[in-house]
Amino acid sequence: MSDVLKNTLAQHRLADAARFSPTQITLLTKATQLGEEALALALLPLAQQKAQVPVSDFKVGAIAISGSGHWYLGANMELAGQSLNNALHAEQAAIGHAALFDEQHIEKVIVSASPCGHCRQFMHELNQESLMLVLPEAHVMLNELLPHAFGPADLSQSYGMLTAPTGTLAAVNNPDINPHDALMLLAIDEANASYAPYSQNRAGVALQLEGGQICRGRYLENAAFNPGLGPMQLALSQLFLNGYQPSDIERACLVEASTQVQQTHNAAQVLAAACDVKLETVQF
Ligand SMILES: [Zn+2]
Repeated sequence: MSDVLKNTLAQHRLADAARFSPTQITLLTKATQLGEEALALALLPLAQQKAQVPVSDFKVGAIAISGSGHWYLGANMELAGQSLNNALHAEQAAIGHAALFDEQHIEKVIVSASPCGHCRQFMHELNQESLMLVLPEAHVMLNELLPHAFGPADLSQSYGMLTAPTGTLAAVNNPDINPHDALMLLAIDEANASYAPYSQNRAGVALQLEGGQICRGRYLENAAFNPGLGPMQLALSQLFLNGYQPSDIERACLVEASTQVQQTHNAAQVLAAACDVKLETVQF
């Protein structure tokens, strides 16, 4: 990645309104006299308030606490006019949020309602020894909620959703890409950081907003396929978590590897349900 892109991205990362640094957490625990878990539970309404729920009117908030000590908010997202298959759950939003910051380990997920089966399967794709879930009324380990699970290890997959090797898609190898198009280069970067061990369909999205802000998304696949998270859904989740609206989107780029599995059609459909911007796509 060029230095200009790195700086642009660093600025947007600092501006993330739904991410807390370890320093902020320390300040908040001191100010509130709450322990970390009590503080996380107290912050859940902040995450819930970011939910987009035109169908269910049921707001779920989640916080993924990463190994680096950063906290990532997530909320459920439903898109009116779309199949429910395109909805995103709060736990997916929080873990996808952590993935976008290249976190490699999730210590705990705090969530306002017991995780559904879909989310249990999604979280199992982390392929971690353990993952603690903190609910308002209980602590429970993921393997207690999902005994005899099917997952990456059953497919001889040694790494997990956050620890995949980086891809090798490069602008220089694709004549369809303008090497000075920063947004498209960001989408390539996201595709390289995506997780698609079963289909090899690396895919990334970058959205540019009217104010110059950028929202990113990357594909996070699943051994059981369906709980996987599409790159456009993750990018739109980032948009809402940061308080923006689809009408703020000025440009949208998707990059993907050309395989039997494809994101382009679904991503374009999801984007079209949200705004009038036409999706620009490039395949490798
Ligand atoms: Zn769920």
